[in-house]
Order: sequence, then C-alpha cells, then structure tokens
Amino acid sequence: MYYTLEKKRYGVGLAAPQVGKSLAISVIDIKATPTRPHLKPFGATIINPAIVETFGKRTGLWEGCISCGVGNDTLYAKVLRYKKIRVRWQDERAHQREAVFEGIIAHVLQHEIDHLNGVLFVDRVRDNKTMITIGEYKKHYLPKTR
Ligand SMILES: [Zn+2]
Repeated sequence: MYYTLEKKRYGVGLAAPQVGKSLAISVIDIKATPTRPHLKPFGATIINPAIVETFGKRTGLWEGCISCGVGNDTLYAKVLRYKKIRVRWQDERAHQREAVFEGIIAHVLQHEIDHLNGVLFVDRVRDNKTMITIGEYKKHYLPKTR
C-alpha cells in the first residue's frame, strides 16, 4: 500500500479494500503537488478508524479516487464533507489514537474511512452534474498557471 501510494503522484490515501484486502486499514500520504504547492505534508496509517465527532455542517468539496479512472480520465465530483472531524484509530504500532483534523486532512480521512465501510465517493455525490473527469475539472475550474 505504501508503494502504490508512492507511485500515484496525486493520490493522498489508499484503503486496503482498494488493493483487494478486506481489512480496515488506510494509508494517508498528503503531499504537495503542482496544483497544491503550499500543502503541508501529512502521513499516517490508520487502523479501525471511526469518526467519533463532527463539527459544523457539511460543505461541497471536489474529490476523486485512484480507484475510479486513470490520469485525466479519473472521475471527479463534488461531495459533501465535514470541514472538521474527530477521529479515533489505531496506529501501525496498535496504539489507540484520537485527534481532531481540519481542512484537507479531514476531507481525505472521510474519503478513506468511507472506503473501509464500502462507500465510494460517487455514492455521496448529491448533484450528478458535478460528476466530471479530472481533465475537465482542470480545464474548467483550475486557474491557468502557465
Ligand atoms: Zn478513494
């Protein structure tokens, strides 16, 4: 899982069911990319994670999944997510952990925990008109940088 995530330059998380393992384990590896150059890196292995508290209302955030297409043909859509959540999990040393996360980390954790519960992000899309490919997203929504 670490290897696969390393190879997927734009991947920020990978859940065991995505690689054919029926285990409640996700690997998170958020790194800076050309489209998000100022991102502070964050990595964690989460085992048996659960969202134990949410803060505020959900808002529509764009996301994709490395299990739903390749390169610019990867599916991308607006999904309702909480901006802030409290998560309980076990780390790779089986230590019980609990923390509050915000922003992109909270977003990625909700996507990954969904994977472990058999939910794909496309199941959470409210407005099907937002279901596009990353190629279309880049063309229509990203500012032209060069
Ligand atoms: Zn995914």
